[in-house]
Formats: sequence, C-alpha cells, structure tokens
Amino acid sequence: MKFGGTSLDDAEKMKHVAGLISRYLDEGYELVVVASALSGVTDELLKMSRDASRADADVTGWVDKLFEKHIGIAENAVSNSDALNTVVKTLEELRDELEKLLYGIHYIREVTPRSRDYVLSFGERMSTPILWGSLTSIGVKTRWLTGWDAGIVTDSNYGEAKPFIELSKLQLKTRLQPIIDRGEVPVVTGYIAKSQDGSITTLGRGGSDYTATLIAAALKVDEVWLWTDVDGLMTADPRIEPSAKTIKELSFEEAVEMTALGAKRMHPRALEPAMEEDIPVRIRNTFNPDNPGTIITSKPKEPGGIVKAVTLVRDVGLINVQGFGMVGTPGTAARIFQVLGNAGINIMMISQTVSESNISMIVPGSVLMKAVSLLETALLGTGLVKDITYESDVSVVAAVGRGMRGRPGTAARIFKAVAEKGVNIRMIAQGSSELNISLVVKEGDCEKAVRAIHEEFRLGGSN
Ligand code: ADP
Ligand code: ASP
Ligand code: MG
Repeated sequence: MKFGGTSLDDAEKMKHVAGLISRYLDEGYELVVVASALSGVTDELLKMSRDASRADADVTGWVDKLFEKHIGIAENAVSNSDALNTVVKTLEELRDELEKLLYGIHYIREVTPRSRDYVLSFGERMSTPILWGSLTSIGVKTRWLTGWDAGIVTDSNYGEAKPFIELSKLQLKTRLQPIIDRGEVPVVTGYIAKSQDGSITTLGRGGSDYTATLIAAALKVDEVWLWTDVDGLMTADPRIEPSAKTIKELSFEEAVEMTALGAKRMHPRALEPAMEEDIPVRIRNTFNPDNPGTIITSKPKEPGGIVKAVTLVRDVGLINVQGFGMVGTPGTAARIFQVLGNAGINIMMISQTVSESNISMIVPGSVLMKAVSLLETALLGTGLVKDITYESDVSVVAAVGRGMRGRPGTAARIFKAVAEKGVNIRMIAQGSSELNISLVVKEGDCEKAVRAIHEEFRLGGSN
C-alpha cells in the first residue's frame, strides 16, 4: 500500500490512514506500506533548494516553518508518548540536518543536482516516521525504513535516478521479508534512494508510486494499492473536468500511456515493475475505501470505449527546426535527436511534415532553453537548418484508449471537437501503437481542449 501526500497532510488524515492499515491487518492481509511526503512539501523543498543561494535567503525561517508543520501533525497523530518522543527526536535531527545543508548551498551560492536531491529527500524522511508513530500508537507492530535502508540502489542521474532493478529487488526481498515474517509492517519512504557511491537520489516526481511497485515486484505480492484522494484513474483530471468518471478497469499499456501523458502525476515508469511481474495495481481513494477504485491488469475484461481518457501535460516547450536543406537529407532527424540525447534531454513528442522541411519536438519545460541553445550551436550555419524557433507556453493534451486502434475517424473527431471551441492546434502526433493521439495547444487553451475531447467522446457522467 502506498499513500500519497494528499492522504497524509494533516493529523486527522494520518490517523485515518493508520486506521485503514490496521483494518486490513485485522482482516489478515500482510502489508508493506510506502509513504510520500505531505502534499506540497516536495514543491516547498524544491523552492528552498532554488532560493537558498539567494543573498536574502531566510533559511532558518523556512526550516522552522516546515518543522513546525510536521511537529504539529505528529503531536496530534501520535498518541503514544514513547513513540511521540522518538518521532520528535527524529524530526529535530532532520530539521538541523536540513538547515546545515541549506546554509551550505547558501554560502557557496550554488545548488547542484546532487545537493538538490539531498534537499528533496527530507519530505519523505519527515512524513514516514509520523505515520510509523501513528501506527505504533494504535498497537500496530511496525518499523520505518528509508528507501536505501530498504534496499533501493540507483544510478547517479540525480532528479530522475534509475534503480538497478535486479540488485534493488534482491536487497528489498532480503531486507523486507524478515520484517514481515516477524509480523511487523515495514513503512518505507517513497521516492528516495541512494546511488552506489552512497549519495541520496530521487526517482523523479511522483516516484513514491515507483517505490511501491518495485517493492511489490521484489516480494511478488498479490496486488499493489496506490491510495490517493480520488476514486481511481479518471477519464480526465477532475479538477479540470468536474464530470470526469472513474475508470473501473484498464490494461497496463493504457495506464502506462495515461500516466506518461500526465494522469495522476504518477512517475512515468511506475507501472513497469508491476507489469513485468504481472501484479495487478489498484488505484483507490483513501477517503472512500469502500470504492474498489481502478484496477490495472494485463487482461482487462471490459473493452471500454474508443477513447478512455483525456490527459494533460503542462510545463513543456515546443521546438521547431526548419530548413529546406533538411529535405531529402537522410540523418537530419538522427542528428537532432543525438544532440539532445547526448545532453540527457528527453524528447516527449516528435512530428515531421512529409515535405521534410520542418521537425517539431516537445521537451520538458525545464530544459527547453538548454535544448534550443544546443541545437543552435550544432545545427545553425550547417546549411541544413535555417531557423530554430521555440514556444514556452504550450501544453500537451492527449486522448488515450485501446479502442482507437484501427478505428478510422477518431483523429478527425478529436481535432474537430477542439477546433469548434476555437482552440488552435500547434502540433499533432500519433504513435503507431495508436494508443494515443496527442496535440499541442497554447497553455491558456489547454483546459478547454481537455473538456472538448471529454465531451466529444461522452466520457463524463455520474460515478
Ligand atoms: P498522491 O498524493 O496520491 O500521489 P497526486 O496529487 O500525485 O496524489 O495525484 C492525484 C491527483 O491527480 C488527483 O487529485 C487529480 O486531481 C489528479 N489527476 C490528474 N489526472 C487524473 C486522472 N486522469 N485520474 C485521476 N487523477 C488525476
Ligand atoms: N513527494 C514526491 C513528489 O511530490 C514523490 C511522490 O509524492 O510520489 O513528487
Ligand atoms: Mg503523487
């Protein structure tokens, strides 16, 4: 069971989650629990890591505020006084460690990817002991562990570190299984791990879901339950489209497509470990536990409609490479991708016109300018490329569903629906898997586009 930050961000929720865990233990389940940072805390830490290098940084003030928030929750969620003492001591130590770290960044006026991950690790390291304390207070036998203590080892690609799968699985099994066999519940920090040289890494945003499925695969569990604040994976983000409905059943490939395209802010690789071991993943609502949620399996029984969901990725940038020199010149695309690939920049979407004089790409917003300048350096003046332009205020809207495969006219319906709302489409792409059709629109139009497609395929309704 993995609990998202939205399920843990006040004392009542923390106690509710502890109660839920205890209820399933009473029913005879054997459990491993994974906890995220309280909602918003990872974003706060990210901001601190960025702002710490400023001359006017109020490091002590920020750290105190964060600490007080966690202490406040601990005091109300942990009723056993011994457990509370342990939790408070842990939080105090973490507070001091974080303060020193941020002052370090402040004095050298620089945050590196490695020190940023170190800062980001505090979210899960502060939330998990509180959940441990809350569980201990209601008589659950439990132990808390960091992702690295549990056995997850990654490469050193800070911010998006990749676990060494086999090694991590082996260690997770040998370290967690004995705890379970003793009748204790391991409570593990999501999102964070260590590299082989021992520095702290993060798995990428939404990485707690990934931690959970990795543990699940290592222990070959029966199911993974990702507890969140909505009933499951939905036909659209309910914050954008209020009529969005919970999808009862999805195949792994559809769910991977949806999450990679922004649904539920889940880590794009989070479903991989479960998919490889064929372990069903359920997405469920912490605050509505009687609802079965969405189940993701390799062989869903329900066929579903043509389009199952509409997703949205914000914070992306569009790059347009143009030049008649590219026409009929093999290897131009390869060259572009190589330049970006060498710099570790992930291309999220590509499209090329048949005339070959134009290639458009979508990259994460955070690396847009770096990508543009790399391409300018490598390609301008070569005679191949005349112009490189970019747009930073765009979003990707995608329609996802197995039913689109081999169904002519789906793209036409999508574009018509969006156009009829007066939204201009900047770029289009469809993978040959035909599992999704993605379009790029101006950021300001993106919610309108989501609603237009949702309506066209009548995805909404009462739950
Ligand atoms: P957690 O704290 O459980 O990890 P997140 O905030 O990461 O929760 O993700 C849950 C949120 O994702 C929901 O509250 C919802 O607003 C948003 N969301 C976006 N798209 C979808 C979707 N297609 N289905 C479900 N939730 C979605
Ligand atoms: N706390 C991390 C994040 O906000 C990981 C997670 O919540 O899954 O991205
Ligand atoms: Mg999340």
